[in-house]
Amino acid sequence: MLKLGIIGSPLSHSLSPVMHLSALKELGISGSYELLETPPDCLLERVKELKTSGFTGFNITIPLKVFITPLLVSVDDAANLVGAVNTVYIDERRDLHGYNTDVYGFVEAIPSALKQSLKNKKATVIGAGGAARAVVTGLAGLGVELIEVYARDEKKALRIKDVLTDNFKNIKVKILSFNENCDLSQSSIVVNTTPIGMHGEFEGQSPLSSMSIDSMPNDAIVYDLIYRPRETKLLKQAKKRGLVAIDGSEMLVLQGAKALTIWTGKKAPIEVMRQTLLKNL
Ligand code: NAP
Repeated sequence: MLKLGIIGSPLSHSLSPVMHLSALKELGISGSYELLETPPDCLLERVKELKTSGFTGFNITIPLKVFITPLLVSVDDAANLVGAVNTVYIDERRDLHGYNTDVYGFVEAIPSALKQSLKNKKATVIGAGGAARAVVTGLAGLGVELIEVYARDEKKALRIKDVLTDNFKNIKVKILSFNENCDLSQSSIVVNTTPIGMHGEFEGQSPLSSMSIDSMPNDAIVYDLIYRPRETKLLKQAKKRGLVAIDGSEMLVLQGAKALTIWTGKKAPIEVMRQTLLKNL
């Protein structure tokens, strides 16, 4: 029996249990995936409990993705670059190994032909939080030449710039103050990593004006990490302008698929995971 779960807080809206349970069923693996509500001050206690109660691994979400690092014996390259871990594997010695599968999920959700087209181009990222770090790492790996980060907290954006310039030769990073009228006329891709547009207090809003979106090149991509709703106002603006619009659901599926492979050593049943997620959104 494979014991899995997710730690963080709040977790009540997490779609990870349904997605992973459908995948385990498809693979014929008997297992569980528990929601383990864990505020930061309970992290140490929770990890001890997971190590001693037979868990094989777990996901980590807000606000623990950074705090978990001192408890791990190893981290993969992506987690090291991003400075955040979203997946942990517990080995036979009960040692913890950290991975970041968000970078993979973000990149692989972009259709291959479009990925190629981003080489040496300019990318724009809105926001500078945890997801933005994974996004800029993915974009740098795709060979973009310049990343502009629009953020309301300049310190967070500067930390992103430092990590990128330390790890990727030749990358240029420009920090700008968050505003809805960004100059996107030379941007081949814009990625929203803020919650603006998400179900709840920001639903129906867009981080960018239609004027900004309309100024983008005809073959540009608009990528919103939000998956609830799938079609945010930003993506509606993009579609109206005839641009490629990518929502956050595929990134969510693919980061989960990679985590499942880390835990089981098996190829994840991506289509089953995708259909389960879309049905539950
Ligand atoms: P986070 O660490 O809290 O970062 C959010 C960023 O958005 C911060 O830079 C924050 O600025 C900025 N922001 C928030 N409200 C804003 C506003 N009203 N105006 C301007 N900027 C604002 O959160 P996160 O973990 O990066 O997640 C961000 C979004 O990505 C969420 O919608 C989440 O659901 C989505 N996400 C999707 C996936 C996926 O698999 N599809 C994976 C991860 C995240 P401050 O720093 O100034 O607060």
